[in-house]
Amino acid sequence: MSRRLSALVILAMCASACAAPPTPFSLRFTVFPTAQGADVVVEVHGGRDDLAWVGFAAGPGAPAELPQRVQSVQARTLDGRRLPQRPQGSAGYQIELEGSSWQLSYSLDLRPRSGNDIFYRSSVRGDDYLVLVGSDAWARFYTSPDALAMSPTERPGGAVLEARAAFNLPDQPAPWNVATTARARNPRTYELTEHPASSVFALGPLKIRDVEEVPGLKLAVHPRWSVLNESIDSLTGQLLLSHRERLGLPGSTTALALLNPLPQPLGPTDGIRTAGMVRDRSLILYAGASPRIEPNGPQLREALAVFLGHELFHLWVPSGVQVTRELSWLSEGWAMHMGRLAAVEVGWLSEPASVQRLQDAYRRYLDIGGYRAGSLTEASMGSESRRDLLYLRGELVFRLLKRQWALSNDGSFEAELWRALADAYDGRTPLDTESVREALASLVDGGTVRRYVEGTSPLTPSALGLRRR
Ligand SMILES: [Zn+2]
Repeated sequence: MSRRLSALVILAMCASACAAPPTPFSLRFTVFPTAQGADVVVEVHGGRDDLAWVGFAAGPGAPAELPQRVQSVQARTLDGRRLPQRPQGSAGYQIELEGSSWQLSYSLDLRPRSGNDIFYRSSVRGDDYLVLVGSDAWARFYTSPDALAMSPTERPGGAVLEARAAFNLPDQPAPWNVATTARARNPRTYELTEHPASSVFALGPLKIRDVEEVPGLKLAVHPRWSVLNESIDSLTGQLLLSHRERLGLPGSTTALALLNPLPQPLGPTDGIRTAGMVRDRSLILYAGASPRIEPNGPQLREALAVFLGHELFHLWVPSGVQVTRELSWLSEGWAMHMGRLAAVEVGWLSEPASVQRLQDAYRRYLDIGGYRAGSLTEASMGSESRRDLLYLRGELVFRLLKRQWALSNDGSFEAELWRALADAYDGRTPLDTESVREALASLVDGGTVRRYVEGTSPLTPSALGLRRR
């Protein structure tokens, strides 16, 4: 009896200790900027001694074109002997370990391939800067053949215990530095407690400073940022104050806003061109103005204030309170609305110009088929090419819900909604459609929320408080 018991105990212990837990690695990435992008050397430490091979592959969140961007993959032992490797699965390699500690190197080709490149993927190499976004830049490691056989989007994240990123920064012609929210060991080395898939590192001759209005926020401005350069700090501060007065402080304590010039070939021939992306707690922003546009004129001032107002709002949603991707209609629609509101409040956009912008948005919504565009949740998961329409619809629906709320309430709809979302958010798990619908339905009746979010009721000028055409 007692022998059977001890056998059971051993079995039970083995079930937890011996059932092949995911093998945690420590990773050290070192980045050497090159003319096209970067060379990356990864040292892999830890793991089990008995592993015969390990897989290296693009992981979840990686762009579809990553396999073309990753070149010259080579695995070597630490004393330089080449290890056998072969391509495996989609965008993956299998490396035979031969019982040695080892390292891997690869090149990242980050030249923009098209105008859309930096609008949808943000790891990019300019003449004198390099922006590395985790899922675009860093390899994932696997110890199970099943993971390599899956498509990159289906793969698990791979087991990583800790990671370190180090940078070989050029000193000439201007000294480069690193802007990131990651914890610095020294100005060239950063420590991460998990795989840096959601990290952002910007390298370049950046001017980095704290933003007083939101403690913990750093602004990193590239010296070639050329759009209203002399006003950028005060404008950023005023826009943040406007958001802060309405919403309170954002939930996140460290954040970064990066202001970069547009890569040369993407500069606008007319007017201003902007692109903004949120990755984790970093805002990656690009802007360029045509040389033909009046350098201090109202067109430029309005466009920049609305753009920055929009992007800075993303420190609240989705950075401070995270939401799942199917809620991008809300985070983007709300951001569009806040961008205009803040631009008016800081005096960079007139009230009539703001109303005209909304009127134009409605006309465009009709012109590009918004009337029959269906569920916002589904559209949020849909194709990148329909993003424009999604943002437009998001803004109009946000405006409609706000008007509904204002019929029987005083005060700020934005503040109430932010509070309801912040209350529902546990600081880790992104809010899903159900919890956000609950938050919205606590402010505006559930039927209205459902109808407009599901897109069963088209948006009319009267419901939006706009004049008819
Ligand atoms: Zn946005």
